[in-house]
Amino acid sequence: MRDSRLDPLFADATALPGVGPKVAKALARLLGASPAGGAPRVIDALFHAPTGAIDRRARPTIAELVPGEIATVEVVVERHQPPRSPRAPYRVVVADGTGAMTLVFFKAQGPYIERLLPLGETRWVSGAPELFDGMFQMVHPAHVLDAEGVAKLPPVEPTYPLVEGLTHNLVARIARAAFERLPRLPEWQDGAFLARRGFASFAASLNALHRPTTPGDVSADGPALTRLAYDELLANQLALQLVRAHMKRGSGRATAGDGRIAERITAALPFRLTGAQARALEAIRADLAAPTRMLRLLQGDVGSGKTVVALLAAATAVEAGRQAALMAPTEILARQHLATLEPLAAAGGLTVALLTGREKGRERTRTLERLAAGEIDLLVGTHALFQDDVAFRDLALAIVDEQHKFGVRQRLALASKGAAVDVLVMTATPIPRTLVLTSFGDMDHSALDEKPPGRTPIETRLFNLDRLDEIIAAIGRAIGAGARVYWVCPLVEQSETLDVAAAEDRFASLAEIFPGRVGLVHGKMKGAEKDAAVAAFVEGRTSILVATTVIEVGVNVPEATVMVIEHAERFGLAQLHQLRGRVGRGAERSMCLLLWKEPLGETAKQRLETMKATDDGFVIAEKDLELRGEGEVLGARQSGAPVFRFARMERHAELVRVAHDDVGLVLARDPSLTGERGGALRLLLHLFERDAAVRLLRAG
Ligand code: ADP
Ligand code: MG
Repeated sequence: MRDSRLDPLFADATALPGVGPKVAKALARLLGASPAGGAPRVIDALFHAPTGAIDRRARPTIAELVPGEIATVEVVVERHQPPRSPRAPYRVVVADGTGAMTLVFFKAQGPYIERLLPLGETRWVSGAPELFDGMFQMVHPAHVLDAEGVAKLPPVEPTYPLVEGLTHNLVARIARAAFERLPRLPEWQDGAFLARRGFASFAASLNALHRPTTPGDVSADGPALTRLAYDELLANQLALQLVRAHMKRGSGRATAGDGRIAERITAALPFRLTGAQARALEAIRADLAAPTRMLRLLQGDVGSGKTVVALLAAATAVEAGRQAALMAPTEILARQHLATLEPLAAAGGLTVALLTGREKGRERTRTLERLAAGEIDLLVGTHALFQDDVAFRDLALAIVDEQHKFGVRQRLALASKGAAVDVLVMTATPIPRTLVLTSFGDMDHSALDEKPPGRTPIETRLFNLDRLDEIIAAIGRAIGAGARVYWVCPLVEQSETLDVAAAEDRFASLAEIFPGRVGLVHGKMKGAEKDAAVAAFVEGRTSILVATTVIEVGVNVPEATVMVIEHAERFGLAQLHQLRGRVGRGAERSMCLLLWKEPLGETAKQRLETMKATDDGFVIAEKDLELRGEGEVLGARQSGAPVFRFARMERHAELVRVAHDDVGLVLARDPSLTGERGGALRLLLHLFERDAAVRLLRAG
């Protein structure tokens, strides 16, 4: 249960004054769905940080004005010049002892201007002056105030990321109203730490964001935002370490194999394990054999051979008379895993079965019966694996492939399918060190940093999309010589429907040129249709597979040697790297053509250059982090939810480590957070919605 003191913050944002239905709609577009999935709440407005500020502190005379520099000037109203034609502006001449200036209003109502600027009165006008015909003018000053008003003028106005229908002013008002709902909260940070860093309290830091008194109050590396980022990172580390402690606490079971199944599988492999694969397996087997629970991350670039490591790990569990599960993020990938694993598993005498959303009715019931009876050793599937009625006889090992496509909750759900399940998560997106910490805490990890032998490097070339005809001609020659080609069409404005349309158009135009040789696969197709398209490509009945990014994850067709990515400038680095990894899997020479279209922004250019320069996933991940921030690296922005509200890995890497160590100390002293600081930290977990961690505390 959340502390009821926080309830006002989690109320719907429409509870705030000034948020009617229209503003609420705009606000929903601005803030997105809340992390909880619903309409934006008070806390979402409160945590919407400004990205800049307008400084209105300068009070020059008219003679001292500088064009373009925002100024607040004390003037006397001298003359009104109503427009002579409806299109012309209404002008008002104002002056001080040093000179005169014109205020310009378009489409203004005369009576309104007369009330705003009465003749002969003193007023303060604030805005950006410009020179026009040798005289200063201010077009639509942001503020026209009397003495009382100017006394209340905020010295600095925060500016926010906006959407149509909202203004900085309105967002600031809403954020300030949200701030009024913030209850008095105890301090969860260490006092000495705050003093050393020059941080104010949580409330004072939020106040500084929405009522800044200097531009430094809202600057990205200023004390207010840094403190809030640290709060968030602390909540994150606390949650991760609590989950980990919880998983470790449930005393694990020792799962020791005798190697008989693994040996038979290894003998059936057409290759020898790489050194990195052997090392990873050794670590995994040691974890399994230990009486504590395993929580290990297996990182390896695309094509580094994680699948066989997963299979051999599963073999160990089965040798011990127990079961294993392998969860993949997509249907296609789950089926592909099954296809790869089945023959090898058979060689080892290990029974594999599939469970996805598509297995229904009697077939599904039968699978579940066999699973419960222990007749299935390894169950491969999608999210369907952790539906309520899926029960194992004795699940020992849960393997999660492409883990970043799943949330913590889903990982936990799978792990809860057995007593003291050991968990192995695999990722093909190499993750920089800081991000491993923020996403997994100090999870153990193994890296497959050695590619299987015999791979020829992929040649990557950049082409302007203008040269499409040439490229299509070259593709024609390549498929004439037997090549298999992926042709990926881009994300269009985050819309799956438009995406699909783009892929369908490309499919139609290519199919006209190469009749009968082109297949299409995208996310809106039915499962069976998708399978058929992939199968035709795998078997070589089609030579070109036009696809949306559904092929990003895992699809393995070693015969494919050409990857064409259309509008490559629209993809993130990690995604480009993943896609390119679909080729270069056989001994044949492979090629990746990145087709870009102008205008090409600086970041997009750097991404494409990076792709051309290297195929080392770890180098690419670091560059990605530098260019785009952590959301892209973990693929989270694609799913819409920001990973962090205040913290940015490219900026706060040092704080991640500090938070990690701080949490270590806190939990060593107060593992169930019952002390005074512990209680405050529970509030922090709720504020940043790491509620799942709090529930574990209670359960544990
Ligand atoms: P990923 O790490 O991307 O999941 P896979 O497990 O799909 O990679 O492996 C990619 C390809 O490399 C597969 O065809 C697999 O059979 C092959 N492979 C895996 N390990 C080795 C190895 N040690 N030597 C040669 N080929 C290997
Ligand atoms: Mg894989």
